[in-house]
Amino acid sequence: MSDGSNRRYEPHVIEARRQAAWKARDAFRTPPLSEDQPHLYIKPSAPFTSGNVHIGHVRSYSIGDAYARFRRARGEDVLFAFGFDAFGLPAELGAIAGGEPPSDWVNRCAAHMTGQLQRLGFSFDWERSFLSSDALMYRWSQWLFLTLLEAGLVYRGTGNVDWCDSCQTTLASAQVEAGGTCWRCHGPVRLIELPQWYLRISAHVEENDARLAEREASGKWDEVALASQQIVLGRVDGVEVELQTDGGGALSVFTPHAGALEEARFVLISARHPHAEVWAAEPQVAVELEQLRSGGWERSSREAETIPVVDTGRALQTPTGESLPVYITPLVDARFGATAVLGIPTRDRTDEVIARRLGMDVAETGEEQLTPAWEAKSAVRYKASDWVVSRQRSWGTPIPIVYCESCGIVPVPRDQLPVLLPLDIRPTGTGNPLAELEEFVQTSCPRCGEPARRETDTLDCHFDALWLWVPACIPPESREQPLDEIFALADLRHWLPSERVVAGSDSGNFVFDQRFVTKALRDIGPLAFLEDGEPFAGCLFHEMVVSDGRKMSKHLGNVVDPDELLARYGADTVRLAVLYAARPQRSLNWSDSAVLRCHRFLTQVWEYAQRKLAEAAASEAQEPERDTSEHLRLKLSQWCENAVKKTTEDMESLEMHSAVRNVMRLFDRIKDFDKRVIARDETLSRANFDALFDALAVLAQMLGPLAPHIAEELWISLGREEHGAQTPWPGVSLTVPA
Ligand SMILES: [Zn+2]
Ligand SMILES: [Zn+2]
Repeated sequence: MSDGSNRRYEPHVIEARRQAAWKARDAFRTPPLSEDQPHLYIKPSAPFTSGNVHIGHVRSYSIGDAYARFRRARGEDVLFAFGFDAFGLPAELGAIAGGEPPSDWVNRCAAHMTGQLQRLGFSFDWERSFLSSDALMYRWSQWLFLTLLEAGLVYRGTGNVDWCDSCQTTLASAQVEAGGTCWRCHGPVRLIELPQWYLRISAHVEENDARLAEREASGKWDEVALASQQIVLGRVDGVEVELQTDGGGALSVFTPHAGALEEARFVLISARHPHAEVWAAEPQVAVELEQLRSGGWERSSREAETIPVVDTGRALQTPTGESLPVYITPLVDARFGATAVLGIPTRDRTDEVIARRLGMDVAETGEEQLTPAWEAKSAVRYKASDWVVSRQRSWGTPIPIVYCESCGIVPVPRDQLPVLLPLDIRPTGTGNPLAELEEFVQTSCPRCGEPARRETDTLDCHFDALWLWVPACIPPESREQPLDEIFALADLRHWLPSERVVAGSDSGNFVFDQRFVTKALRDIGPLAFLEDGEPFAGCLFHEMVVSDGRKMSKHLGNVVDPDELLARYGADTVRLAVLYAARPQRSLNWSDSAVLRCHRFLTQVWEYAQRKLAEAAASEAQEPERDTSEHLRLKLSQWCENAVKKTTEDMESLEMHSAVRNVMRLFDRIKDFDKRVIARDETLSRANFDALFDALAVLAQMLGPLAPHIAEELWISLGREEHGAQTPWPGVSLTVPA
């Protein structure tokens, strides 16, 4: 037991000492596989190597780390590790701005961010962290691409991309300015058609939808996470009717307005509808459809008022004998996916706009009737649709495909992976430097050996996200094994599915696509042991950190810098404050008051405990005459029991804001006990000191996951033993390793 001589709370001294101790005893190393031990994988988000840890990261990792430490404190084996999402546009732009190769830029950023996260005391297993841009890791993308290609889940199609003529490059939508101009040269941007690689997520959209009810029933998916999946699905319920063509064929047409079928005036077909060609048999229509697809339409003509509509010149017959003209337009996709829909101007604003453009009368008919002649059956459509995984950019995973004059499109054989990305590439913002690098482009055909050209598109970093959650499960010594062997490791069966993913509310698309790829790999075989095809048993999505109700941005000058806060108050205060300030599912409106409140609390806990320890040491010799406080000791132990019960429930359900409040309340109770004993007996007897220190030890245990440095330091000054990853949870006795 300490003699209470460390009176002042000096977070930087305490935190440096604890971090050194954790490092020395390798506290956060993932435990070896042991089936008798309860075990779980907590999946933090994979940060972009953006240069700096921001306050949003701090929020995310403070929640995840508190949960990881809580589960370890209860004696469970925890895997808590992540990889950096290092490919993609932000890194490319950062490298352009810094005038260095992107590989140098991301390595520097990752090292800097790792240092920041370590100073915050997050308990990641750093040995398992990685960068998605390392060849050893991006071979996962190439392996997955080939695996999905063989299964028909990756396919070649044509798609529209934003194109800048003067920069000779495709643009990501983030690079198109509000007025439809290029971010770099401010010239006009056109939509053009390019051959692209697509991911067929439509193959598992229905199962993703169906399994959402199970997610909800498990109680381990919070409302924000569930809502995000609904948004990505974009499920529309309605009815489907079969309409006859003049020529004797039929087309299945959807509408969400089951009660207004007789008000339909026309039919709209997506340009991506599987039978769109059938409707463009007339040469003139075919030309127009081709123009529609190959674009050239201006960025500005994407609204209902101006978006292209191709008149097929043909019609469908309703059961009541009316004739509905058929049009092809991309307007369908964003609302219902690649399908055909009834145009009902009286019910749908977009349809109303189209009707006016086509010169139709949109007045209500006034007849309220459900015509029995219409044979409609319930149907569902989803907005979620196949997406383009290829990008005309150099900082990404090379697509393992070769184009040969005689053999056509040839996949690179698996034993020739990885196709290496040249590291000396310097993107400038124009063109695609990879396509200009002859030593990369020129190769020989894997099939016939003749000269051939490599695919110079790279994979969008969203494709990397499909597998980024897996490699943390692999022990570092197995990382270089062939992927087929890696997928056979017992480690994957041990840790998957992840017990909980903790990520920002903007991760809905990532999680949706990870749920897709798990189902794909379940069916193909490598993840067959995940029978429901779900990678995450639980999912917590937290909201953002904002300032005065607005998004933080440099432009508004309202950015909170975690490094500054850390330098001023220490890691424990910063972590406790972001947990305390709001429940995860609410936006955290930043204010200094939460930081000040938490800093004051930790300072008081520390100084109070040290003062009491000094008093106890000084009073060692003489036992006071009076001790009439037994009932108060009983009360104190009941308060402790209560606080433990409530805080345990809070931590189990990741309600850390409530856990912090319960710990704060217990501290008030401890001081109250002290005050009441003094009022009765004037001094504290040995028994009262012991009761007080036991209560402070319980407080230290509950503080362990929330403010780990001060908690362990307090635990030690109360004469308790430090070991393993964590102060044990109250009531849990962790065996000390020999
Ligand atoms: Zn440009
Ligand atoms: Zn060939």
